[in-house]
Parts: sequence; structure tokens; C-alpha cells
Amino acid sequence: MRKSKIKGQKEIVGIVQALKKQRKSIVTYNGSFDLLHLGHIKSLEEAKKQGDVLIVLLNSDKSVRSYKGAHRPIVLQNERAQTLAALECVDYITIFNEINPKKILEKIKPTIHCAGADWGKNCIEREVVEKYKGKIHILRWTQGYSTTELIKKTSNAYSKPVIKAVFLDRDGTININQPEYLHKKEDFKFTPFAISALQKLSKSNYKIIITTNQSGIGRGYFKLNDLKKLHQWLLSYLKKKKIRIDRIYYCPHHPKDKCSCRKPKTGMIERAVKDFGINLSKSWIVGDDIKDIILGREVNLKTIFIGKKFKSGLKIRPHYQVRDLKKAIKIILQSN
Ligand SMILES: [Mg+2]
Ligand SMILES: [Zn+2]
Repeated sequence: MRKSKIKGQKEIVGIVQALKKQRKSIVTYNGSFDLLHLGHIKSLEEAKKQGDVLIVLLNSDKSVRSYKGAHRPIVLQNERAQTLAALECVDYITIFNEINPKKILEKIKPTIHCAGADWGKNCIEREVVEKYKGKIHILRWTQGYSTTELIKKTSNAYSKPVIKAVFLDRDGTININQPEYLHKKEDFKFTPFAISALQKLSKSNYKIIITTNQSGIGRGYFKLNDLKKLHQWLLSYLKKKKIRIDRIYYCPHHPKDKCSCRKPKTGMIERAVKDFGINLSKSWIVGDDIKDIILGREVNLKTIFIGKKFKSGLKIRPHYQVRDLKKAIKIILQSN
């Protein structure tokens, strides 16, 4: 179907002759249509409205290279032609090799030839079109769309380094989750190998971020200030051990509060993305609770469950299941 709209120059001339016998008006419009965008679509739709049959004159790869340089086109001519052929407003496509379409216009002799507002009435095609009583139609300027701008944006986006993170749960992952709702440094006991594992992770280029549900505050078991003091102590203790924690995010709410930050809700991760510009698909979450895994899956993180049994009524599974933080961080660093 699509390919049947794409014609060689000889073939298109035959088709045009037949159409003209049927008194159809022929509209032509040329361009490279590299990385098709809405501006192209609007122009093509406007071109189609100028007559019965729209023929797109597509610059070949050779033609595009000769006026835009060796790095263009991004999309090769066969693909560009097929993409155009999928558009309802395009009736035929023919490819030309020269820099401008004068030669093919000489053969087609269109009723109307469309040109972009940036070229204007006195475009290079005018003479040949008017020679055969054709008219030039200037398309409305569709500002705000440009392939070059798209390419700039894309290359900017990919020239920046990717910021990756490891999101660590706190209770049960970094420290033993006992007693329940612990909030005193005296009760804070690190899990086996946590310190050495975190030291290794600190040397990597991953941001290290703790995300922790602390509903003990919402439940009234301890105060926000207790949590802040505990975290202050934790950070300075770890710093002495040459461990870098880039940020701790906590949810202080009661489950009944229906906040947007209590795991497996995604609020804490979203804040971290805002604060650090993290690319989640290159990042990890490690935790000992199904909530950590659901959260991770929800936001496209790679997930590591710490524990013996992963029980859930859901179909969701962690990417990895390990016994302790050491194993988890080994997997992360090996994947780096
Ligand atoms: Mg936990
Ligand atoms: Zn919350």
C-alpha cells in the first residue's frame, strides 16, 4: 500500500499525464522531510488543499547531503518516502537527486507548486512553474517546528552524563529492623556487611539515596525531631566510615493519611528525580519489603529484594533476590 505511492520519475510523469486528462489539478511540494514533525504535516495538509492530487518531491539522500552536509539526512530516503506514504494527504512521492527540484518540475508541470514562507514567492522554482502556467502557493509559516531544533534538543539530552542512583531502604536493609519503630541511635544496629558494602558503593558514580517509611511519627510513637536527630547521627557516623549518603527522604505519615510519599507510593522517588536529575531506568532500588519492590517496578527501577522469601499475592517479582546488602551491591557494581 505505502510503497505503491512511491514512484520513479518516469512513472510519475505518466501518472500526471493521465490525471491531467481527467482534469485533475496537480500540486507539488518538495523537501527532505528528515525526522517528520508536526510542521511538516501541517504544510503537507495545506498543500493538499490547493488541488486534487499532491505529489511530494523528496530530496534523495545524495541531494540532502549536498546541501546540509554529510551528517544529514538522519533518516534514509526509502524510510522517509515510506513515512510520507503513510500520510493520508500525500498521494504520490517521487525522489530527486539535484539540490533543487527544477528538473522534475519541468517534467511534471504542476498546476500549483507549494513553497515554504521562508523561501517566498520568488523561490527558485517560480520560473519553471510559471513557464507552464502553473502557480506558486506560499504555505503559511508554521513556526515552532524544525528538524534542526529536534536534533539539537536530542543531542543536548544525550550529551549530558546520565545520573544514576541506588535507592536504599533503611530498616531491615541498612539496619536491623528491631525494635519496631526504632528511633534511638542506641537501638540502631547495622545489618551484616552493611558498612563494607556501603563503602564500596560510595566509590561508585551512583547517587546513594535512602528512602524510608517512618509512620512511627504519624502513629505518634516518636517525634519528627527524634527522626531528624537519628539521621544526623547516622550521616555523621557513616561519613567517618567514608560512606557517602547523598540524601535521606522519609515519609512521616500514617498509612491512613493516604499521602503520596509512603512506599510503595512514588513521591520520594519523584522528589529525588527532581532534586538530582536521576535517570530511573539506569538506577536501582534495594529493600527487604515487598513495598520496595512494587515501588521499584512502578517507576522502572531495577529491583533487589533482600530476604529469604519473597511472598506476595501479586505477579510482581524482584529482578534479584539476595541475602544481604553486600550481595545486592555486588550485583549493582558488576552491572556498571
Ligand atoms: Mg525495610
Ligand atoms: Zn508520606
